Order: sequence, then C-alpha cells, then structure tokens
Amino acid sequence: MATLYDLKKALERSIDTASQEKTAVSSGTRLLSTSEYSDGFQALREASEQSNYRSFILPQLESLLTPLVRSHGQISVLEIGPGPKSVLRYLSNSLRSSIRKYDAYEPHGQHATDLQMWLCPILDTRPLLPCLETPPIIHRKPFTADINANISAGTARYDVILFCHSMYGMSPKREFLAGALGMLDRWPRSGLAIVFHREETLRLNGLPCHKTAVHPSGTICVKDDNETLDRFAPFVAGFAMRDSGVHKLILDEWRDQCRVLGRRDTACRGYLLFSSPNIMVSFASEATGLAHLTLNLPSALRVDEPRVKNRQARLHSPAAIVRPTEILHVQHCLHWAAQHGTGLTVVGGSHSGQCIWPNVVAVDMSAFNKILVIPNENGPGTDASGLVVAEAGCTSGDIIRETIAAGLTVPLGARPSVGAGLWLQGGIGHLSRLHGLSCDKIIGVVMVSASSGRVLCVGHVPNNHLPDHAEVPDNADDLLWALKGAGTNFGVVISVVFKAYAAPMYSIRHWVLPLSCTLEARRGLQDYHKLVSAITDPHTSVDAYLFFEDKKLRLGVTMIEASTSDDAGIGDKISPTATPPSATRVLGPEHESKFVDNVGLFDTEMYMSGMHGGHAGGKTSSFKRCLFFKTVMATHVADKLLAAIESRPSPLCYFHLLQGGGAIGEMASDATAFGCRDWDLACVVTGVWSRDQDGTGASQAAIQWVYKVAHDLLRLSHGAYGADLGPYPRDAALAVKAFGSNVTRLVGLKKALDPHNILAYACPLVNAPSHPALVIIVTGDSGAGKDYCAAIWASSFVCETRFTARDVSISHATKREFAAATGADLDRLLEDRAYKEKHRDALTAFFQGQVNERPGLREQHFLDVVNDAMSTDVLLITGMRDKTPVAAFSHLVPTSKVDEVRVQASKDVRRDRGGCLEDVDRDDKANHSMLHKPDFVFHNDLKGGEAAKEFARDHLLRLWSEDLQRLGSLVRTTSDFPRMGVEFRHVLGITQQPHGLHLCASLLKSHFQGQWRRVDAIVCCGAGEIYASALAFSAQKPLALIREAGKLPPPDSIRRQGLVAYFVFLIRGISKKQDSDRRRRDSSRCACPCGR
Ligand SMILES: Cc1cc2nc3c(=O)[nH]c(=O)nc-3n(C[C@H](O)[C@H](O)[C@H](O)COP(=O)(O)OP(=O)(O)OC[C@H]3O[C@@H](n4cnc5c(N)ncnc54)[C@H](O)[C@@H]3O)c2cc1C
Repeated sequence: MATLYDLKKALERSIDTASQEKTAVSSGTRLLSTSEYSDGFQALREASEQSNYRSFILPQLESLLTPLVRSHGQISVLEIGPGPKSVLRYLSNSLRSSIRKYDAYEPHGQHATDLQMWLCPILDTRPLLPCLETPPIIHRKPFTADINANISAGTARYDVILFCHSMYGMSPKREFLAGALGMLDRWPRSGLAIVFHREETLRLNGLPCHKTAVHPSGTICVKDDNETLDRFAPFVAGFAMRDSGVHKLILDEWRDQCRVLGRRDTACRGYLLFSSPNIMVSFASEATGLAHLTLNLPSALRVDEPRVKNRQARLHSPAAIVRPTEILHVQHCLHWAAQHGTGLTVVGGSHSGQCIWPNVVAVDMSAFNKILVIPNENGPGTDASGLVVAEAGCTSGDIIRETIAAGLTVPLGARPSVGAGLWLQGGIGHLSRLHGLSCDKIIGVVMVSASSGRVLCVGHVPNNHLPDHAEVPDNADDLLWALKGAGTNFGVVISVVFKAYAAPMYSIRHWVLPLSCTLEARRGLQDYHKLVSAITDPHTSVDAYLFFEDKKLRLGVTMIEASTSDDAGIGDKISPTATPPSATRVLGPEHESKFVDNVGLFDTEMYMSGMHGGHAGGKTSSFKRCLFFKTVMATHVADKLLAAIESRPSPLCYFHLLQGGGAIGEMASDATAFGCRDWDLACVVTGVWSRDQDGTGASQAAIQWVYKVAHDLLRLSHGAYGADLGPYPRDAALAVKAFGSNVTRLVGLKKALDPHNILAYACPLVNAPSHPALVIIVTGDSGAGKDYCAAIWASSFVCETRFTARDVSISHATKREFAAATGADLDRLLEDRAYKEKHRDALTAFFQGQVNERPGLREQHFLDVVNDAMSTDVLLITGMRDKTPVAAFSHLVPTSKVDEVRVQASKDVRRDRGGCLEDVDRDDKANHSMLHKPDFVFHNDLKGGEAAKEFARDHLLRLWSEDLQRLGSLVRTTSDFPRMGVEFRHVLGITQQPHGLHLCASLLKSHFQGQWRRVDAIVCCGAGEIYASALAFSAQKPLALIREAGKLPPPDSIRRQGLVAYFVFLIRGISKKQDSDRRRRDSSRCACPCGR
C-alpha cells in the first residue's frame, strides 16, 4: 500500500510532468490559503479517525494519562498545534474530567478561534473539558523552542505537553522538545511530553524517551469523491498552483494520482486507503539526563556506529548505544534507566527488529564474548558430556567453533551469527529432536536484575565463573524457570551455562521437487508429511521449503542425520549414513548430499545455499514469524499455505518447515517458560525483498504479507515462536499464544522482577485481552445526568482503586453513521445538547430503521463498545435505551459482571438540565409497566459531583474490589468437567484455602445493600450452608437452613464450623409453595435500594 509520503512525491512529480507537457503550468506554486489548509486538515483528520485515532492514538493517550491522573488526581495540559479541536475529545469522560487546566499554542487564526469556541461552548452545551479551573489560554502563535520566551509569555508549568501530529515544521525537533520538557512540572509532580508523529521513527538525536510505541500498520481511509480528494491532495502536497485555471487542471491530475496509488478494500467501500505508520514517543522531565549515564561510563563505551544485523532495527534511531565491558557498567545502565523512568534494549546477536528501538538507550553486549568449555563435567543431571559457559555477547557460531575443538556441541540454531536472544527464548535447530531446545540445555545463569540492579546467580554456575558479589536470590528456581524460554524479560543476562554433548557429524541430503499444479503441490506436501511421520529416530530431522524459482512452485526437502562416535561404535570412524529407503521411496533419489561437521552444517541450509541462486547473492533482507502446527498437512492448512505462497508480494518469499517432536515434546510444557511443545512442524513464514528496497513500500508489503499469513494461520496453530516477537501491535496476538499455559505465571513474574518495565521492548509477556471484569450500564431519563455520573464513577475507579476504567456512550456509533448519512454535524451531535435534542427524533427513527434492516445491531453495538475496552477492568456504558439492558446483553459477555445503575432526577432538575421530558414520560410508563428493577438507583438531584462520588464509594467500588479479586483467585477452575464444554468452578474449595471462608463471609456481609439491623435471620436454601453459616456468624444473626427432608448436613460438619449456636431452626420438607412465599417475603425485607 502506498504511504502518504509516496503520494506526496507522486503529487510533486505530476507538477513536473505537467509543466513539461503544458506550458501554462509554469505559473508556479503558492502556499495554501487559510481555508484550503483548514479543509485539507479536516479531510486528513476524518481520514485518520477510524484507524489511527481509535486504534493507536486514543489507547496510547489513555495508557499514558491514566497513571498520571491516578498519581496527581487532576492534571494540567498544554497542547501544541491542536487545530480546531483538541485530540483530547477522544478521551473518556473520566479522563477529560481530570483536566483542571488546558492551554494551547495554535498559530492558525481560524483554528484558534474554533478551538476557543469548542472549549468554551455556548449555553446548553456541556463543555468537553468540564472541570477546568481557569479559562483556557490559546496562544495564537507558533510554539518556540525557547522555554524562557514561553514562560514569560504567561504559560505555567504543566503535567502534560502534547504534540499530536504538530512537529512537522519544527527543526531541529530535539530543541523544541527540550523547550517543552523545561515547561513540565517537576518532582513530585513528574510530567510527560507526548508526541504523535506520522512516521515510524522520530529522530531526536539522543533524547531518551520515557515510553515509545509504533503503529506500522496505521492507515488512512479517504473518501473517494472529487470534493474530498480536492481538499485532501493539496494538503498532502503542501501547496497549490498560483493560477486558478492551472490549479483546476492539476486537481484533475492529483485525483487520478490518489486513485492510482490508493488501495481499495471491500471492507471499506468508497474509500481509498494509504499506509500511514504512526509513532508515539513520550518524554519525562528527566529525559535530558543521558549525561548521567555516560558520565558513569568510560567514553570509549559510547558506540556511534552500531553493528546490527537486522535491517528494521537499523532504521531505528536509538537515544544512544553503550557497549559495557564490565558487569558494573551494565549495573549503571539499569540504575540509570530506573532513576530516569526509561527503558533499555539489549543487543545480543542483533537479529531481532527490537534490539535497537527509537529514542531508547541500547546496551550492546558484544564485549562479553568469552566461552569456557568444561569437558567431562555434567552439572546436575547425567545426560551431558560437559558444560559450556558462554557470555551473552557470543554468537551461535562462536560457541560451535569453540566447543567443536573439544569434541563437544550445544544444540543451537541454524545461523552462526544469531546470539543470546535465541537461547534465552527457545532455540530450534537440527539437534532439537535429539537433545531439546537450546533453552532446555541452560542449567545456570548470571544476570543483572532489572528490579534491583544486583548481580544474581541462578542454577548451577561453576565457582570459578561466579562474579564477585553475585547473590542467589530467594526466587532462584522461579527465575531459572522463566529464563528458559522468556529470558529476555527479567534482567540483562551476562552468561549462561549450557549442558554440552558429543559433537556429531551430519549426513545431509537435498531434494527439490517441482510442483506444477495445486493438486501436485498438495500431494508434495502430503508426501513430505508422510516422510516426517515415518521418522521416529531423533537423530534425523527433515526440513521442507515451499518457494518459487523461475516462476515455478517448488518443494525443497532437506534430511539431516546426526551420528556421533557413540553411534558408530568405539574406535570406528563416523561415516555418512545411507539414504533411508523410505526417503527414496517417497522423494526419489536425492539431488545432492554432503557430510559435514557442526561448522560445515551452517552452510548447508537450503535457504542460504540452494534457493534463489544462494540467497539472491546475499543481497536480500528478510522478516520472519514462526508458528507451530500439529498437522500442517491437514488439507485446510496445506491449502492456506498454498494460497498464501501464491499471494507473495515478492518472488523471494517462502515458507520453511522444521520438524519437531522428539526431545522437544518429551519435556512437560510447564517444565520451562517455553510453553509450546506439542507440535510436529514449525512453519517460518519468511518475507524477503532485495536489500536496496529496505524501508520502501516493497519491504512493507513483504512484512505485511508475513503478518497476514501468520494471523490467518494462528487460529489453526498450536502456538507461536516468541523469539522473533517484539513490542509491535501486530505481534500482540502472536505473543498471546507464544507461551501456552505458562503465560499467566510469566506475566506475574514480569511484574515482580521488572516492576518498572525497563526491558519494555523484549518479547511482550501478555495475557489474552479480556472483556472488562465489570460492566456498569448507566441508564436514566433524559437530563438526569447519566454521562456526568458515569464520568465521575469511572474516575473514582481510576483514582481510588488500582483498576483501569472508562466510560463510553454506546450511541456514538449511531451518531457517526447518522451524520455520515444525513450530513448532520457529528461533533455537535456528540457535544451540543441543544443540537442533539433537535435531532433526537430523527436519530431515533434512523436507529430504528437500522435495527429493522440489521436485527442484531443492538447486540453488535454492545459488543463493539465492550471489545473496544478490552483489557480495561471496568467499563461504564451510557446511551442505552433498552428497557432491561442487563437481561438483554449480559449473556454476550459471560466473563464480565454486568450491573445497571439508574440515574434519577426530579422533573424540574431534568428540565433545568435541558432534558427532553416528553420522552421521559413515555419511558416512565414503559418502565412502570414492566416492573423492571435496576441493580442500583442513584438520585442525582443535587448540584456538583460529591453525591455521585459518595455513591461510587458506598456501592460501585465494592463491586470490583481487591478483596473480590482475591476471592476470585481462590476459585479453582476445571475445564471440560463433568463433561466437554463445561467449565467447572469449585467454589466450595474457597473454604479449604487459608482465610477463604472468612474473606467470603466478610464480602457477603459488606456487599449487602440493606440495613443489617432490619434482618431477622439468614435463610439458606440448597448447598450454601457453609457460607451462610459463616455469614450468620459474622453478622451475629440466626441461621435458617431450608432443605428437603433427609438431605441435612451431618451435625459434625456444622460443629466443625463452630456455628451451632446460630442454628435456631431447621425446616424439613418445606413445600415449594411455602418456599417461594418465604423467599418473596424475605426479598421484600431486603434493604437493597431496588429490592435485591
Ligand atoms: C537469519 C535468522 C536466522 C534465524 N535462525 C534461527 C534458528 O535457526 N533457530 C531459532 O530458534 N531461531 C532462529 N532465528 C530467530 C532468532 O532466534 C531470534 O531472532 C532471536 O531473538 C535473535 O537473537 P539475537 O541475540 O541474534 O538478536 P538480538 O536482536 O540481539 O536479541 C533478541 C532479543 O533478545 C534480547 N537480548 C539479547 N541479549 C540479551 C541479554 N544478554 N540479556 C537480555 N536480553 C537479551 C534483546 O533485547 C532482544 O529483545 C533466526 C532469526 C534470523 C533473523
């Protein structure tokens, strides 16, 4: 997909072409007029809203502002170049309500006026920043890099300074940012400067950031009509033609260019798509403290020219690269990062895209390159022939070359230049079936802890290799477990101790089979599968490659057989093995064979030596993601592979299949952090392009292809390989599947062992995103103050608990579609009550029409808002007009607790607030007729938010408290019990956990909404007697058990609880009628606001 930059260049080129063809074009260009600029700005913003604002900018902003609001209570914001409306309008109400001060620099006159209007709206419109304590100051001039000038111009210090796509004209950008950092509030109110920029990297010459995230898949969707394109194209080009006649001609040409370069997508009919990668970089006021790091390190350790293999990493511009030579230097780096609230990357073999990251300091470990081979020492366990201590700057090739001299080897990967990232995160190679993964062979580690900066030693490390001051931490077993598979996340690893084995010789055989049609391709893959399934000897592994050569599809197969002197017999020379008859039968005679040692093995990989004329002469770059499969050759998987290879964007892209099984699968999946072991084949989806296309649309297309194929295959896979994954949004779904069932334990360890998230750019350890645990539907009459209360309640969760919360209006989607269909002003529909009321009937009719056409629309809207709030703990939804929303929608989110709070206010109050009373009367009747009872009712007649806050404290915060979470964690879950598809939650098990019963009883007591003094007894039907008796004991109330005759609990179980005194009566054989009468009577006594 063409980028905006590609489009800009094409628009510029078309002027040159036109000027050659039409003399009139020599009229020259001019800057855009104010209205052209505004129109273009608006067109670009509309085009970006869906993809970039909603999927990147908004979540990033919320994740940065939420902790600030939590620590500061309320915040002040300075926005640079917001245009006519601030990006803050996309935030949840609760975050907007936390802004007490807002100022801006907006040099564009009309935008500044519009912004002022937007911030201080006319009567009846609720301001978007409702809690401002002082009127906003809009500086109608450009922001300068000179902090003194800015401060003397009357700007105060701020908690947040925001540049949202406004750094384009600023040069050098670093100076402008340094100016902004000088205006941030300082300790104890540390602030943030936040930049969003429309590129994948933002070069700031050594300014270390607080956090950064990239959105390489950002797109913009421009409406494909002449009017929109005529506004959009000049804005992208940055100029117009001086002569109006020529301008018209050029607009014709530019429309064509947009249509030629813009991609069309059936999911986005009527729009043109352009690639628009985005980056977010945030800086803390301490960002300028790089000097503190370098002062503590000898100057020779600063590296100007990084030695980086990965081509994407080379495009990133780090804050600095340091190359420590002693453990003390590594400790300095970690201390510095912790003190300055920033992250670090670590460079091993530099094969990943994330070892160098924009505006982050990189710690290059290449000086730690010693290898010590200890033959005949086994360490714990007896299967090894020696040990190898390898420092973290070594490569696989270094280790293999060193060990082979002692007749030993370590199972590593297939490329000699790959480094520590491989053995810390897996390590799949030709000896994996025989000895296991590289990480399985690690028995000891020396590292510098990310949390304490101390030198730690875990597992078995030979004494003479222990650094001074190395400590064995209390959690050494946990740490060693985590380092074997997820080892890049907890500290900087200095060295590891591997088990080593007798070095084998390898018999290598290659086949290349032409596949002339789909049928033959399927058959080829089936033959390969047959061959692999027949191989049980772990000394043998068979790889396959699906690739195109000379425009023809081919299947390459490589069989590797390892033999050691043990296999050959004492005194016998190791010699090549004969081709197994099964291979000849299935594949025919081999095309090539070799007999090599471990070093020679590196050169035999088909993708290096055989395909594409030997890696296209070595002048290519590649991008890989790897998935694990049980049955690649199941028809649907094979067909997907064949379809995907047909859609490759460059002739060099291919699939590499590696055989699993053997020792990989023999280890239990929770024995190490590497949790994906149950697979037969690993499929490496490899996008390749020629090196001179690095950073262009061609490389983007190949990377996009890899992700598309990987995501398509993910559902069918048995996991993803974590070693390749980084902090890219596109890796998130793969990362969720990278550690199997170990992920929850790893997420917990990451929080404990890297609490400041210093190693934030390693393979992400993430739980699958989940629906909000608590969904509160806020209903009520027009004018009752639903949105206002929802915002206060969301901020109560954010400020008074450790949970994340947001409030959304479900009607936004309808308003957006209504505005698009009718031309109504979307912003006013969202923000201007009078305008909204004017369109109320039309909107209702529009929605009803939509529902008639799409009957599942209400459910769809509900799921959309809930899915948008994935990983938020508490979601408050307003704007629902359904009469019984909990009953109607809670089944759609079975893992969430869904409650309804109805906000009520008197007619007079609602009228004063501009509510629509007719509507209310209609609703009231309907409500009464249905006798619907919400979970809570809040009376919102008073002015101000105090009552709402108190209500949140008394009722809502308890719905999702730390104690409830703790109780939840005590409930053991058994899947598929007592039958498939049933998840069994063993609630009685709570009583067997320390303090479980007490916790449960105290929660039951505190969650009761009524008055305990009005309760006469606790009545318990069925099997809850243990909890009921504990509650009765705690509340000092008598207990009544209702049981069918003959089903009483044995008296000793009651005595065990020490509760006998509180049994006052037991009812035997009570009839169903009596039972229900009693229940009704009891529930009417319940003092919960709505009878619950
Ligand atoms: C050409 C190529 C061939 C490959 N072949 C194989 C193969 O045969 N088998 C296989 O299993 N995988 C293979 N891979 C995948 C490879 O294992 C991963 O890309 C791995 O992460 C690379 O590690 P590295 O040290 O070379 O890269 P780096 O980019 O330097 O490091 C990768 C990650 O490890 C972290 N890290 C590095 N050193 C340390 C340290 N000392 N302490 C803490 N964190 C550290 C880095 O910060 C980064 O997050 C291959 C990849 C490529 C590009």
